[in-house]
Amino acid sequence: MATPRAIHCARCNSARRQAAFADETTRAGLTGLAVVVTCSCQLTGLRRAFRDQLRPGQRRFHAAKASDRDRKLFMSIMASTGIGVVFETCRDQPVAARAQLWSIVVPKLVKLGVVELVIERGEQQRDLAAIERALFDISAIDRLRYRHATPHEEPMLWAADTAAWALGKGGHWADRLRPLMLG
Ligand SMILES: [Zn+2]
Repeated sequence: MATPRAIHCARCNSARRQAAFADETTRAGLTGLAVVVTCSCQLTGLRRAFRDQLRPGQRRFHAAKASDRDRKLFMSIMASTGIGVVFETCRDQPVAARAQLWSIVVPKLVKLGVVELVIERGEQQRDLAAIERALFDISAIDRLRYRHATPHEEPMLWAADTAAWALGKGGHWADRLRPLMLG
């Protein structure tokens, strides 16, 4: 796969303001890590657009529980707003896979110009150790801020959840996100 190049945002004319949001999928022995990437200057608008998709009483969008119509709608918003997606998979046991996936994904994010990474709450201590190790290995320890959050507080994690769900599922769902994939 080609080495990713830093994303240059046409809106704010900056190449080093990318934010990334990560979620995982596990299906049939395969663990996948999906990361959606966008410029920080787009976050306010994107969060509003995603919240506007919620049905009354819903606190978050959850692709696994949504109707096909709502999934398609949500993915079309992702596609129309220039979000990029990084997706990597690993066949190890989930815990080992997750550490392995961070070691692949973190250098990629740094190259893309990502300065902030938000991860859906899960294996927190292990994630942080794996991310720190990956940053240390490429001498980029101070290039990326990272933290965990819940989908209820961060709508961008709904996009990560949708990407993880669609790419884990494959077929025509994965095809919808192909144009968004970053190297
Ligand atoms: Zn921007």
